[in-house]
Amino acid sequence: MSVAKPNQNADTMANAQESDRLDPLKAYRSRFTLPEGVIYLDGNSLGVLPAGLGDRMRDVIEHQWGERLVRGWNDAGWIDLPSRVAGKIAALVGTGANCVTVGDSTSINVFKVLSAALSLRPDRRVILSDRNNFPTDLYVADGLTRLLGQGYELKLATADTMEEAVDETVAVVLLTEVDYRTGERYDMEAMTKHIHGKGALAIWDLCHSAGAFPVHLDAAGADFAIGCGYKYLNGGPGAPAFLYVAERHLEDVAPALSGWMGHDAPFAFTTDYRPADGIGRMKVGTPPILSLSALNIALDAFEGVDMALVRQKSQELCDRFIAEVEHRCPELELVTPRVHEQRGSQVSFRHPEGYAIMQALIANGVIGDFRAPDILRFGMTPLYLRHTDILAAAEILERVLRQKLWDREEYRTRAKVT
Ligand SMILES: *Cc1c(COP(=O)(O)O)cnc(C)c1O
Repeated sequence: MSVAKPNQNADTMANAQESDRLDPLKAYRSRFTLPEGVIYLDGNSLGVLPAGLGDRMRDVIEHQWGERLVRGWNDAGWIDLPSRVAGKIAALVGTGANCVTVGDSTSINVFKVLSAALSLRPDRRVILSDRNNFPTDLYVADGLTRLLGQGYELKLATADTMEEAVDETVAVVLLTEVDYRTGERYDMEAMTKHIHGKGALAIWDLCHSAGAFPVHLDAAGADFAIGCGYKYLNGGPGAPAFLYVAERHLEDVAPALSGWMGHDAPFAFTTDYRPADGIGRMKVGTPPILSLSALNIALDAFEGVDMALVRQKSQELCDRFIAEVEHRCPELELVTPRVHEQRGSQVSFRHPEGYAIMQALIANGVIGDFRAPDILRFGMTPLYLRHTDILAAAEILERVLRQKLWDREEYRTRAKVT
């Protein structure tokens, strides 16, 4: 492969600048605080800091907590904060606030919805998932089968074999819409229809969907869903996760984690558990007001945003990155589908030295991440990324590879978090 000629480079740059100039989302970049000298392609792992969040959190901490103290539960509306945040997330995932609740981690929410779904199919014993699913989903499903005993089991298939693996023994299918490693995307609506055709229920993990592109849970007929607050939703490290229950199941769901916040009357302090009406029963304990406040503030960055435009720009950024990287770095193997409908909002490449390459790239100002065994992952977040950022990232990646900047011992030493 030949080196890009100078005039070609100039054309590429002019094209990226023109795309930025015409970008209908360009004004939204000011809604975020981005560090100087960094191109951030990891918003799919930890979203960036929304602008003004620090000041608003100072108010929550010093005025609401510091001055209102316990009165804040009523005066500052803390007790209703989960519902307010749920309303904002519901709008992003294609449902109403009455079907979403916010709190706990995604892992715990997997347990909550899986156990709830199994109780709706008492005559079936199989949980079906994808072998390539994010491990915590599989670990929690496995743990639940061991807890339940009675012949419950977790079966695994892959995207290619998933449809045929759904049979009349399957109670619940637990799938992540977008594969965290490859970016490959399931057709949620078609797969849900297929699952229902076999009498099973569908749980969708939206960790790499919510805030990344339009999601239509109600229209897709999903039964349950879960998703992360700290990835595309920018809620901050370890932000509370969300959970969805389709309206038609709300009154039949029996929560396994029957905590007092999901009780019909928590402050009646009765001995017996009586689930709250509707989605409220999926709450467990006291809501984490500080982290929920941060997520609540962060979600304002989506106010007025047309998610269809986000999707369109995300695909343009993915296309641009793929074209530039394939042209400049032929030793990297694309693992993300080229077809727009078949992928989420990330681009991944494979290389045996992927870990060291990513460390060198980060040292040179481009932050992506590495996923074992050999995947370099780049998340596309259209609200704050520019076409010129994508071009610059590809140029730096090319330099890291051509000059073998990654070939140093220090870049091979794995950190605790990759
Ligand atoms: C990020 C992610 C999780 C994370 O779960 P936590 O409980 O927040 O650690 C779970 N599932 C998928 C598919 C993810 O991508």
